Amino acid sequence: MPPRTTLADLVELATPASRIVVMTGAGISTESGIPDYRGPNGLWATQKPPTIGDYATNADTRRSYWARRRETYPEMVAREPNRGHAAIANLDRAGRLLAVVTQNIDGLHQRAGVDPDRVLELHGTTHVVRCMACEQRYDALEVQAKLEAGEEDPRCEACEGPLRSGTVLFGESLPRAALDAAVAACRACDLMLVVGTSLVVNPAARLPLLAQDNGARLAIVNREPTKLDARADVHILGEAGPTLAELVSAIPLDGAR
Ligand code: NAD
Repeated sequence: MPPRTTLADLVELATPASRIVVMTGAGISTESGIPDYRGPNGLWATQKPPTIGDYATNADTRRSYWARRRETYPEMVAREPNRGHAAIANLDRAGRLLAVVTQNIDGLHQRAGVDPDRVLELHGTTHVVRCMACEQRYDALEVQAKLEAGEEDPRCEACEGPLRSGTVLFGESLPRAALDAAVAACRACDLMLVVGTSLVVNPAARLPLLAQDNGARLAIVNREPTKLDARADVHILGEAGPTLAELVSAIPLDGAR
């Protein structure tokens, strides 16, 4: 049967679901003013992150990374969760959410109120900085203050090692614990709701099929087609925020705000 494509179809699919995994990409956060990766103004074109090898060995690469971050991190901190993030937080309050598996690094699911233990960040987080030598972790705002005070290649206070963002760099594997937890959640869910991701980056792009192979229904909401649309029970070509807000207001939820 071809996938169904209306909001009513999505409501029908989601109403009985009690163990939902929502998988999100950059598209859930564009309404908050954070550009996606591969769109025309995407970060892919303007702010491609360095490779781990270059970053680890080249102080110039680190200096230019931190110089750019000194300018852009305050903008990231100022971004607010949107109605899409709020809708997902409502699923959590209602006890229907098993996990949010996200490729985003912006922390907006937690800020919207999703239990942080349920947010699995496959590409890490920009709000933590850590030492490349001893793994000491720092709040990114603490490091931002050092950058603004003029440090160009900030160092670990414990061991003087070079610091790095908590996000995954090119050439680096995904954080094992988050990936393992995401695989377990995909095996256990009864609905996989994919929102705002182009589904071109593996292994994240394979997770919806893993969920489906383990008996979950699959729904996709994205403003442009994805390669898994034909496999979905429901796929909606549309905007993440309004679609999720309408979905969550149409299904009976205890504890929703
Ligand atoms: P992507 O840019 O490849 O795809 C985003 C998809 O969302 C696109 O298909 C686009 O058409 C769609 N989209 C954009 N706005 C939408 C909206 N309002 N409603 C519905 N669909 C919308 O993003 P991705 O698949 O998440 O790429 C993965 C990489 O991007 C990851 O490495 C992630 O770390 C990084 N990234 C993260 C952020 C963030 O944290 N907010 C921002 C940019 C990039």
